Amino acid sequence: MSPRLGIYVQVPFCQTKCTYCNFHTGVVSSARFSPYVEAVCREIRGHRELYGAAHVGLAEGFEALVDTVYIGGGTPSLLEPELLLGMMTAIRETFRTELHEVTLEADPETVEVGKARAWVRAGIDRVSFGLQSFSDRELAAAGRMHRRADIYRAVPILREAGIRNISFDLIAGLPYQTETSWKESLEELARLEPEHVSVYLLEVDEGSRLGKELLAGGARYSAGAVPSDDEMAEFYETASAFLAAAGYQHYEISNWAKPGFPSRHNLKYWRREAYLGFGAGAHSFSGTVRWANAHDAAEYVGAIAAGRIPVEQWEEVTRERALEEELFLGLRQLDGIDVARIELEYGVALGARIEPLESAGLVERDGNLLRLAPGKISISNEVFVELMR
Ligand code: SF4
Repeated sequence: MSPRLGIYVQVPFCQTKCTYCNFHTGVVSSARFSPYVEAVCREIRGHRELYGAAHVGLAEGFEALVDTVYIGGGTPSLLEPELLLGMMTAIRETFRTELHEVTLEADPETVEVGKARAWVRAGIDRVSFGLQSFSDRELAAAGRMHRRADIYRAVPILREAGIRNISFDLIAGLPYQTETSWKESLEELARLEPEHVSVYLLEVDEGSRLGKELLAGGARYSAGAVPSDDEMAEFYETASAFLAAAGYQHYEISNWAKPGFPSRHNLKYWRREAYLGFGAGAHSFSGTVRWANAHDAAEYVGAIAAGRIPVEQWEEVTRERALEEELFLGLRQLDGIDVARIELEYGVALGARIEPLESAGLVERDGNLLRLAPGKISISNEVFVELMR
């Protein structure tokens, strides 16, 4: 089968900054959206020449067929629909496409009837909502713009517009979250029947407002109300059991889907398949090389206007590194990894690495398949550290 390529587009703009986040995203005037999208379209249309000039070589036939697009951020649903349509047109006119999944990340308060219909006309068929919680107290403390009522307003609008694939993100560990409020969020989520669910443990960036308060003390961002690591692990286990009972299949550490709805685009990341990222800070992987664009949106726009691609990181993936990625990314998937295939492909014997983990009950083997042991998924990082030794 010819290779199937994924395309990621980064839109680094948000309405406000969440207290825990220090991503390279900015709260900027909407006047900056259009020049940014123009730069992204130029990058898409001219990527071959731009990569050539930056010595990022792509193999012949690399872009055989694009089948997934993911427009993420930031909050790309802030953009006027015409700008999203412009990016989709640039993709369609530059690549051979047979699109099976086109995802837009959205915040519930940005959804409007006209916008949702325009998204569908642009070819968007999946919306991934950064809900994080159904509790207004938790949402307010985290600095999110939306409230529970916005979620209930937005979902029917999307359904009405024809979106048949909706994903909800929840965060376990927000300030003021309790076992009771977490269960309530899960129950409300199930009532709205999304096709896909992602559950992330709260990761507080040290440079974020909440991160600084956790380190230095203070009460403005509710650092004292952040649940403990043990509580977060409990929340994760509760979600796992709840979602399984509600008919969701756990297919990756942080992801659950109704049958037929795992994210085709995100699976490319865990399967080490190729993708091209466009926009400020977007990452790409050709199968042998990883690279990323400069994070700063203004720098990115300036560089593209000057006919340059601002590649900030460029790394040829060594064989040893590729093996580590196979193990690390492969084990994130609940189906596990095919040990025999990896041993053959990389000419290594993995027995000595795997046996201690198996004896400790951290992983389990089923013939050639190796996967994280049930109940050990929430401590997967420890397993990965052991495996990489
Ligand atoms: S968490 Fe998401 S929505 Fe919030 S500031 Fe960061 S990128 Fe923007």
